[in-house]
Parts: sequence; structure tokens; C-alpha cells
Amino acid sequence: MTLTLADVTLTYPDGDGRLTALDRISLDVPAGSLTAVVGPSGSGKSSLLAVAATLVTPDSGRVVVAGTETAGLGRKQQARLRRERIGIVFQQPNLLPSLTAAEQLQVMAHLSGGAVRAARGRALELLDAVGLADQAGRRPHQLSGGQRQRINIARALMNDPAVLLVDEPTSALDHERGAAVLDLLLALTRERSTATVLVTHDLAHLDRADRTVRMDDGRLTVPEPV
Ligand code: ADP
Ligand code: MG
Repeated sequence: MTLTLADVTLTYPDGDGRLTALDRISLDVPAGSLTAVVGPSGSGKSSLLAVAATLVTPDSGRVVVAGTETAGLGRKQQARLRRERIGIVFQQPNLLPSLTAAEQLQVMAHLSGGAVRAARGRALELLDAVGLADQAGRRPHQLSGGQRQRINIARALMNDPAVLLVDEPTSALDHERGAAVLDLLLALTRERSTATVLVTHDLAHLDRADRTVRMDDGRLTVPEPV
């Protein structure tokens, strides 16, 4: 298993009490497979991703990323694990307006301490993998919403992550483009053997995912394997 959440509980301060965002969640995501997470707004989907991304430390339970128990890690080690093993795609692409598509990806190498120029080949390879080989020199304002989201996905793959976490990438896109993003994520998951978790509002086409789990009020329902 490349990503394991075991009995994870997360609460937030809420007035005088605590709000339980994740209530004893357990989830295993094997390498090379895609798990879709559905559920109503406020049910804890983004919290689940935040815990898996080691951005938020749960109150209790275990998070294991690519064989590494995250509980024992200090802040620096956690940041390193995140940089080297985890790709995160947030809902908003947050691209830098002045950079070309290729440069958006190259910046990731710089943040990891690598040389920006040396990362150019990898950036172009990944843009090709998401169908944007011919857009490498374009800036965000010259690209469509769907193209920007593809850059967002390619950027998350720059450091060859074991775990790919994607939060509602299709909500800004129309239905057809949403399906295309799901297909792209599936192909990348297979090619790159990532353990992929996709939070989505778009319930169509989910039969293509390896598995769909459901969040309700902080609780996770995982269907029995058929
Ligand atoms: P979803 O992504 O399914 O919409 P979230 O994980 O964002 O759900 O939120 C789950 C619950 O936790 C909601 O009730 C939300 O209001 C609450 N919540 C989320 N983030 C915070 C936070 N940083 N502080 C306090 N409460 C939060
Ligand atoms: Mg959310």
C-alpha cells in the first residue's frame, strides 16, 4: 500500500467544543490505483486530503505515506516527505501569471533544491503526458481553464510522487472536460504507479475509478470489494 490512513480522527476547535471532521477513517490506496471520494459539502473530504498530505496532523490514528509513518516525523522531515513523495492538486490552479507553462513546472524543481534548467526536460515530458506539448511557451492567460488544470496536474507530478492527492479538479470545468480530467488522472496513475485520491463533485464517469468511497459527516464508507 502506498497510502494508508488507519483509524484517523481529526477535530477542529468549534466554539467551546470540537468539531469532528474525520471520525475514525481507515483507507488503503495501493500504488497504481485511483480512489474517488464523494460526499456532500462539509463532510470532510478536504480534511481527508489535508491529513493524507501531512498538511494537518490528526488527533489520533496513523498516516503512512510510501512506507513512512508520518507520526514520528518532525516538521522538516514532514515537509521533505511532502516535497519528495506527495503530489497535491488543489482546486484552484494558482499558476504564476508571468511564467510559461513549462516554467510553472520547473519552479517545483527549484523549490526542491534542484536546478531549474535541468528540470526543463522533465517539465516538457510531463506537459506532453497531459496533452500540452505544444503549449509549453504559453502563459496562463493564453490558456483555457481545462488547460490550466492540466498544468496544475503536471506540476504535481514533477517530483515523481508516490501519492497523488487531487481536490475537486473538475468543479470549475464543464462535464465533458471533467470526464477528460478523470481519464487523464487514471492514465497517469497507471503509468506512474501513484496511489491517487480524487475528491470530486462530478458523479458521472466514476465507474472508471478503481473504487469510489463516500464521506458523510466525517465518516467514510468503503464498499466491499466485488
Ligand atoms: P468538504 O471538503 O467535504 O467540503 P471539509 O473537510 O472542508 O469538507 O470540512 C469538514 C468540516 O470541517 C466542515 O464542517 C468544515 O466547516 C470544518 N472545517 C474545515 N476546515 C476547518 C478549519 N480549518 N477550522 C475549523 N473547521 C474546519
Ligand atoms: Mg472540500
